[in-house]
Amino acid sequence: MERDLTATADCDVRFVQPYQATKAYTCPGCNREIPVGTHHVVAVPRDAPDLRRHWHRGCWERRATRAPRSPRR
Ligand SMILES: [Zn+2]
Repeated sequence: MERDLTATADCDVRFVQPYQATKAYTCPGCNREIPVGTHHVVAVPRDAPDLRRHWHRGCWERRATRAPRSPRR
């Protein structure tokens, strides 16, 4: 399962402003919905831009502290 490549891969991060969030997404950090109009984060794996994921800001920040820059494999 590609549950969350973005949780471990090296990613580019973009912030999505509330007015830009016109669709609901599921956050891979908590598996809950990110409602329309919510400020959140898009993580784009450098090696696989198609597998980008939308994260709650808080979940992303927790992810960033828990798994800092995964060691290459
Ligand atoms: Zn979340």
